[in-house]
Amino acid sequence: MKVYSHERLERLAAERGMPAEYLHELRVVSSVLPFKVNQYVVDELVDWSAVPDDPIFRLTFPHRDMLPPDMFETLSALHLAAASPGVIRKAARAAHALLNPNPGAQVDANVPVHEGSPLAGVQHKYAETVLVFPSQGQTCHSYCGYCFRWSQFVGNADIRQAAGDVSRVVSYLAASPSVTDVLFTGGDPMIMSATVLDRWVTPLLAPELEHVRTIRFGTKALSYWPARFTTDQDADDMLRLFDRIVAGGRHVAVMAHFSHVRELEHPEVGEAIRRIRATGAVIRAQAPVIAHVNDRAEDWSAMWQRLVELGVVPYYMFVERDTGARNYFGVPLTRALQIYTDSVRGVSGLARSARGPVMSAAPGKVLIDAVTDIGGTEVFSLRLLQARDARQVGRQFFAHHDPAAEWFDDLRPALGSWWPR
Ligand SMILES: *Cc1c(COP(=O)(O)O)cnc(C)c1O
Ligand code: SF4
Repeated sequence: MKVYSHERLERLAAERGMPAEYLHELRVVSSVLPFKVNQYVVDELVDWSAVPDDPIFRLTFPHRDMLPPDMFETLSALHLAAASPGVIRKAARAAHALLNPNPGAQVDANVPVHEGSPLAGVQHKYAETVLVFPSQGQTCHSYCGYCFRWSQFVGNADIRQAAGDVSRVVSYLAASPSVTDVLFTGGDPMIMSATVLDRWVTPLLAPELEHVRTIRFGTKALSYWPARFTTDQDADDMLRLFDRIVAGGRHVAVMAHFSHVRELEHPEVGEAIRRIRATGAVIRAQAPVIAHVNDRAEDWSAMWQRLVELGVVPYYMFVERDTGARNYFGVPLTRALQIYTDSVRGVSGLARSARGPVMSAAPGKVLIDAVTDIGGTEVFSLRLLQARDARQVGRQFFAHHDPAAEWFDDLRPALGSWWPR
């Protein structure tokens, strides 16, 4: 698998005919945020005749507006003055701190304490589901420009979360009978070889972890590298691992990240989905709604329709988190709700299984249900689909309708509403 980042990415963009001004912007933005594309994305997904407006290009290549204007200017000036790599790295580190590298206080609030010390590389926010970040899975086949995990990819040890070995995870799970689901995430766990992934998964199938019923894998490999499940040397071994989990009476849930119907058009994806489903695993699809990529209702209805045809279950439509390049990709909540409502209207009930728009905010997963008028006050009607405090699951609450609001923190309680915390 050929991958392009930094100088190689710049050379690739030059070879594809991008103008010098763009190459400078690419250099500036990619000195702060992580970018990487592989040959499949470049050759099979991006429609180069439609660049720069092509949605996959927008998803994976830098754009100057991904940085706040003053930050862009600062870094741009350093590059133009041919500053040393050390100076640029220092400026980039200062920039990272301004881009909310740890949204929702994931590290402080979600890492459990086990036998007196924090369990690095594990997050346990909702009673039934534990997230595991294997250290070997902390990268992806390509990067999405809006990734909320970007800080993990720029090598900042303070905000990196990775588990080194599975034995402490097993011991924590054995002591946590409420946990039914373990979700392997990253990065992308499918970047690991089948042998390495096996070392993480097989210990979870032990009899003392009978309460763990579902193994989930959060992945964008079906979009960025479907060969992972077809022609890769250990593709069959990966599928046999799924077989073994299923044979043990557990559920395998592939939580696939699909941003655009384009990602579903290549024959390789269809074949990868067919092979995964043949193991008994169920693929569910989720993605944030983001400007320049999928912020029209027809993007979502076309994608959901195609997913259903391929046997994939639409699961969540997320709101882009308040981190990294959200300047560029953010969509106001009102607009996200309109996109959701219009998309749902365009498809049958089978494609309406996706819930959204949903914010993964500090207190829980907040669904924006409606904008409505209550006694002369325009409000967002909101609902907690998941809550750190399980007693709050399902609670409805109200915020003033602010058409510019893009995130939970922009909202203010309305009508004396109860507020989650
Ligand atoms: C979304 C999420 C989950 C999984 O939630 P489901 O609604 O069960 O899919 C688990 N942990 C965290 C931290 C999450 O953000
Ligand atoms: S695949 Fe997921 S983790 Fe990887 S860059 Fe994209 S959003 Fe981030």
